[in-house]
Formats: sequence, C-alpha cells, structure tokens
Amino acid sequence: MVTRPGSSRKASPYWLAALFVRGAEAGAPVCAWCRRRLTPSWKTIDHLDNHPTNNEPWNVVPACPSCNSARASGWESFTAYLQAERQQSPREVEATVRRVEAQRVRALPARDTPEVRALARAWYGERLAELARAGTERSRYSHGISKVLAGVAPSAEEARVLQLRGVLTPTGNVTANGRITLEQVQEQREIREAGLARLAQGEPPTDVEFGALLRAQLVDRAGRLTERGARAVDELVAVPF
Ligand SMILES: [Zn+2]
Repeated sequence: MVTRPGSSRKASPYWLAALFVRGAEAGAPVCAWCRRRLTPSWKTIDHLDNHPTNNEPWNVVPACPSCNSARASGWESFTAYLQAERQQSPREVEATVRRVEAQRVRALPARDTPEVRALARAWYGERLAELARAGTERSRYSHGISKVLAGVAPSAEEARVLQLRGVLTPTGNVTANGRITLEQVQEQREIREAGLARLAQGEPPTDVEFGALLRAQLVDRAGRLTERGARAVDELVAVPF
C-alpha cells in the first residue's frame, strides 16, 4: 500500500463529519468494509496505510470498530474475517476492496462549507456544540500558556480558561500549581526541540524525545516527520545563532 509522511491535519468535528458522510448512503454513514450503519459513538477512522497520524483524505475511510480492529491482524486474516463474520463471498470481498479504493480518492469537502456544517449538525446533533466548545477551550489554554511563558499577557478569554484550570489567579498572577504546569510545558518544549534538532542533523531522537515528538504529532509512529514536524524543523533551522 502507498505510504508517505503523515499530515498533522486536526480532526475537527466538521472534518470528521465530512469523512463519515463521504461513505454515506442516504445520509447515514456506514462502515466502508461491512456497510453496517455507524453512529457518533460507534465508529472509527480506518487509516489505510496503518499510520494513525496520517489523516490525509486519501488515507482515511469510516469503519466500524470490529472491521477496523480485524484489519490490524493483516490482509489475509481480514479477508477471512469478511467472509466468515460479515458473510461476504470472495467476489463480494473483491467488490468491497474496489469500493474502498474508489472511496479513498473521492475528495472530502472543505471543512467549513455550509453543506458540511449542515451534515455535521445532522449527525452529531447536540454533541457538536460541545465538541466545538472543548476544541476552543483547548486552543485557548495552550495559546494562553505559550503567552505566559513568553512573558506576554494572554487575552481575556485565554486568561479565563487559565483561571478555570488553576494556572492563573483572578488578578492574573501565576498560582503555585501554575508554576509547576509552566515548568512541565517548558521542559516538554525543550525535549521536543532537542529531538527536532537531532532529526534536522539526520540523527535519530532519543526514546524520550521520540515520545514527546509523537505526542505533539511532529513525527509518526515510524519516526518520520509529519508536515507539522517538517515546518517545526524549518523554523528551528531558520533561527540565527
Ligand atoms: Zn464494519
């Protein structure tokens, strides 16, 4: 199967909805392999090249949890599973593979079109607002932390999130717990930078650095730089000494 470095595309609720609706029949998302109907709580993203950080549209199809986990044990045992567990004849298995291949190249709609938003609302319902809120809070938290570390005042919204998480006092001072959080964030940042510097020189990162790079989606499981990782290396190299 085709492999290439993963992208760090964030799986936003809208993009996820677009992904699941791409394989939909009559508006109901179905598993690409067995065609059983998916629900927001019973669904997975199947990464066709087996790299979970590679969210390029050509690499992802919606799948049910059982098909997705059956695929992990290799192609031969997966086709046996489709025949035994999902009652597909060898001919139907061939048709399934052709259909998935066709589905993977079909372009995903841009995530913010009114059509995609409508699909996302129809499928996720109430949960969509909740997911969007959680995403906003997460990004305010991490932007706020970065600003405090850089000695810049966070925005009012960021400061509110940092207060709720016990990092800042209502008057904008760093709490005792906040100091520990900031130290940890700074430490992780330095570990990531050391790993990126090593990669930029063509050396493998240490295990600790690899773990930090993987968590930040700067490398994939195979240790290859993602697009985001490649950008981070460029930024690092661009810093004049
Ligand atoms: Zn399935």
